Amino acid sequence: MKKYDFLIVGTGLFGAVSAYLLKQKGYSVKLIDKRAHIGGNVYTENVRGINVHKYGAHIFHTSNKEVWQFVNSFVEFNRYTNSPVANYNGKLYNLPFNMNTFYQMWGVKTPEEAKAKIEEQKQEYHIADPQNLEEQAISLIGKDIYEALIKGYTQKQWGRKCTELPAFIIKRLPVRFTFDNNYFNDKYQGIPEGGYTVLIEKMIEGCDVQLDVDYFDQKDVWDAQADRIIYTGEIDRYFNYQYGHLQYRTVSFETELLEGVPNYQGNAVVNYTDAETPFTRIIEHKHFEMFGQAITDCPDTIISREYSKEWQPGDEPYYPVNDDKNSELYAKYKALADAQTKVIFGGRLAEYKYYDMHKVIERAFEVVGQL
Ligand code: FAD
Ligand code: UDP
Repeated sequence: MKKYDFLIVGTGLFGAVSAYLLKQKGYSVKLIDKRAHIGGNVYTENVRGINVHKYGAHIFHTSNKEVWQFVNSFVEFNRYTNSPVANYNGKLYNLPFNMNTFYQMWGVKTPEEAKAKIEEQKQEYHIADPQNLEEQAISLIGKDIYEALIKGYTQKQWGRKCTELPAFIIKRLPVRFTFDNNYFNDKYQGIPEGGYTVLIEKMIEGCDVQLDVDYFDQKDVWDAQADRIIYTGEIDRYFNYQYGHLQYRTVSFETELLEGVPNYQGNAVVNYTDAETPFTRIIEHKHFEMFGQAITDCPDTIISREYSKEWQPGDEPYYPVNDDKNSELYAKYKALADAQTKVIFGGRLAEYKYYDMHKVIERAFEVVGQL
C-alpha cells in the first residue's frame, strides 16, 4: 500500500488549497471525497455549455490581493459583478439598498432626499439600540424597504421571525447613497472562466484522488495510509456525535433546463422577497459567465429555484447556526479536535464556521503555513 505524507478528507476548497500548498512544500498528498466529484460546494457542472453551480450560486470576492493573485494563477476570472434584483409582488428593485432602490421605492432622486425619507420612517419607531434584525433593518433603511425587501425574504431564509433573529445578519448588506448595484464592497470580484471545477482541478493536479469513498467506512485503512490527516468534513461526525448533532440551515435546489429560452430573467440572481412565494430566489446560471451576444448565442438556459429548509440529520449541511446552543456544542468538539495530534481540522464543516471562499483560502494558507 502506498504511503503518503498527508491524506486530505474532502476535495472542497479547503482540501484543494491545502493539497496545492503541501505539494509545493514537497509533500506527497492523497485526497478522498465521499461525493462522486471534486470541488465540494463550489463544484460546477457543464450542461449544454452552461456551468451550473450545483450547490448554490458562488461569487468570488475578496480585498486580499494575495488571495486574488493566488486564484488567478490557476485560472482567469471574468468581470462578473453581483447585482441581484428583488422581485416583490411583481415589482422589481435593485439590491443592495442604494439610490436606485430608494428611487424605485419612493421616487427620491438625491442622497439628501433618501436620507430624509429613511430618517422620517425611523422616527416612528424610537429605536435607540437595535435588539433584533427587524429593529436593525428599520434603523438602517426604514419601514417600507424593510417590509418589502427584508421581512418576507429573511423569514423564508431563516425559518424564523425577524424579531427573533440577531441584528448582525443584516449588517452584512451594504446601504449606499450612490447609484451602485454592486452587492459587495470588496476590491476584487469575479467567476473563474470555465467554472470552479477547473480551478479545483488545477489546484490538485498531480495528487492522487479517490472519489465516492466515505472516510468513515474504512477509517483505520485510510489512517494507515498517511502520516497526517487533514479532515474537512463535519466535526461532530468525526467524534461520532458523542455530544449530539450540530445544527445547520439547508437549501434544496429545483433545477430546470429551459430549452429554446436563451434568457429567462436577464440576471444571474433574482430574489423573491415576499413571504408567500415558497422559494427565496431564482438563479440563472449562464449569466455568471456569459455577457452580451454570448447569451443569445447559447440557445437554452438553466435556472435553479432555491428553497431554504430546516436541516435534519442526513440533509446537506450548508449554513452553520451560530447561536449560543450550537456554539457551546462546537466548543466541546473543538476541545476534542485540539487534542488530536495526527489530524488537522479545517474548513467550513470541520470548524463549524460560515466561511466565504476567500476566507477558506486565507484559513488554508494559515493552517498549512503552520505545518
Ligand atoms: P466543502 O465545500 O463543504 O467541502 C468539504 C468536502 O468534504 C465535501 O466535498 C464533502 O463531500 C467532503 N467530505 C465530508 N465528509 C467526508 C467524509 N466522511 N469522507 C469523504 N469526504 C467527505 N462563498 C463565497 O465566497 N461566495 C458565495 O457566493 C458563496 N455562496 C454560497 C452559497 C451556498 C448555498 C453555500 C452553502 C455556501 C456559499 N459560499 C460562498 C461558501 C463556500 O461554499 C465555502 O466557503 C466553501 O465551499 C467551503 O469549502 P470547504 O472545503 O470548507 O467545504
Ligand atoms: N436579505 C434580505 N433580502 C434580500 C437579500 C438579503 O432580507 O433580498 C437579508 C437576509 O436576512 C439574509 C441577509 O440579508 O440572510 C444577508 O444576505 P446575504 O445575501 O449576504 O445572505 P447569504 O445568502 O449569503 O447568507
